[in-house]
Amino acid sequence: MSDYVRPAAEAVRPIPNAGAQAMTETTFPETRVSASRTQFPTTSAADVGRLVAEARVAQRKWEAMGFSGRREVLLSARRLMVEDAERFINVVIEDTGKPYEEAQIELFYAVSALDYWAKHARRLLKDQRIRSHSPMMIGKSVRQRFEPIGAVGVIGPWNVPIVNSFGDCIPALAAGNAVVLKPSEVTPSAALAVKDLLALAGLPDGVFAVATGDGSTGSAVVDHVDFVHFTGSESTGRRVATRAAERLIPVSLELGGNDPVIVLPGADLERAASAAVFYSMYNAGQICMSIERAYVHEDIFDEFVELVVEKVRELRVGSPGGPGSVEIGAMIAPTQPAIVKEHIADAVTRGATVRIELPVPDGDEFVSPTVLVDVDHSMRLMKEETFGPTLPIMRVRDAAEAVALANDSSYGLSASVFARSRREGQEVARQLHAGTVSVNDAWTSYFAFEVPMGGAKDSGLGHRHGPDGIRKYCRDQIVVTTLFSLKHEFHWFPHSGGSARLLRNTMRTLHGKKLRGSTRSKHKGA
Ligand code: NDP
Repeated sequence: MSDYVRPAAEAVRPIPNAGAQAMTETTFPETRVSASRTQFPTTSAADVGRLVAEARVAQRKWEAMGFSGRREVLLSARRLMVEDAERFINVVIEDTGKPYEEAQIELFYAVSALDYWAKHARRLLKDQRIRSHSPMMIGKSVRQRFEPIGAVGVIGPWNVPIVNSFGDCIPALAAGNAVVLKPSEVTPSAALAVKDLLALAGLPDGVFAVATGDGSTGSAVVDHVDFVHFTGSESTGRRVATRAAERLIPVSLELGGNDPVIVLPGADLERAASAAVFYSMYNAGQICMSIERAYVHEDIFDEFVELVVEKVRELRVGSPGGPGSVEIGAMIAPTQPAIVKEHIADAVTRGATVRIELPVPDGDEFVSPTVLVDVDHSMRLMKEETFGPTLPIMRVRDAAEAVALANDSSYGLSASVFARSRREGQEVARQLHAGTVSVNDAWTSYFAFEVPMGGAKDSGLGHRHGPDGIRKYCRDQIVVTTLFSLKHEFHWFPHSGGSARLLRNTMRTLHGKKLRGSTRSKHKGA
């Protein structure tokens, strides 16, 4: 079988050289047109195995093209994506029901990522000359090499189908790997559109494959590939990690969060309130780094809440049209509205007060943007990932209480602090258990490819972005070369006693000195 069945009416095919044409032809969907499972079949485990086997063969050719050959293909894909941006934006809107601007920013991320990894892969993966601190390495050169690992599996979620699925494939490809992408069954169209785009850009056949399907297809991907990057829920992430451990293959996992914002006296409350609304309700709250809970100092609590409520009142909820039409779109996965509504109901039952709940269009796809106060940590809204357009705001006495509550979570993806000064913000940031902390902002750093993005605690393992964002897709090799070849090294056979004396004297000289200020008795007592 082919690895996917094209949906009706060639809906996802990019038009070669289609820039101007796409701009004039584009129509914006009035209602969401979700992908259906009948259009995108479940790739069987056997077919996943075949795709991975083909990918392994194709990978050799791709690796042999070198950094310059791969750079050319990836930069050409970048250009084609820009030319065909409107079509890609439409594909994302149709799959997800998100506003135009939120689909557009996915494109912006993808073209920036193609640009960054195409241009920086060579530098990040060049041989590293290591200066060893060990006297055993005197007279030897030590180099660390990065070889592509082979066939990489990327399993993506439904919330940002270009960013979190394709985005993770780009550095893997730039490193010289083949990739099999398993998009979410809820939003597979963008992955298929990208596959066509990469072929147009000159990617050799088989280097990038898309395995549509449900969790069973994802599971088969983990069964066959040489490395897996997974983005999604903590529970599925644990299953993926367990299987990867059984196969002894490396993984990286991005498993979401329950990100806090702390607002302290002296902060620019106008900015803090706008940011809290934007970063909690963007993509209808379906972002792993969304602000999910706010801790606000009692001195500014009432003013902050009023500002937030005013700003939420201005939001427009509905089906996406063209640019500037709505702020809050649909919930993407059919299962998600029930989860969000359950969290809100649970909070209200436990004493929370709803300060504003916007009216929404009819239909199961929409959840009302909701601001709650009188919240505490007995509520699921505060302790679990809600992944919806909610902003619970909790009153705190001081920064110390805010930090303690912010850290009272099994997750640690990102966090934000709004404070009187940058210095105060940074001091609070250092106390937070989160992979990234933004001072006077939230997750904009996601666009900084230079820095590692990843979570503490149950938010995941490993990183995307930063040097590790591409090196993780490589097998390390250390090459140690003896520069001055003696006939005999001092530690080789026979054990004459001389080598033991030499090693004893070396240990005493290098490691036997007292630490400055330390005394024998102190160490004895320790
Ligand atoms: P999942 O973790 O179940 O899905 C993520 C991806 O994994 C999808 O492609 C899914 O396929 C696939 N998958 C499912 N089961 C397996 C398996 N056994 N082995 C390998 N891959 C598998 O997320 P959900 O869609 O169920 O969302 C649940 C919750 O996860 C949300 O409510 C939200 O809290 C969180 N989430 C976090 C995201 C993040 O960015 N970290 C993104 C999305 C959700 P398929 O979709 O086809 O079933």
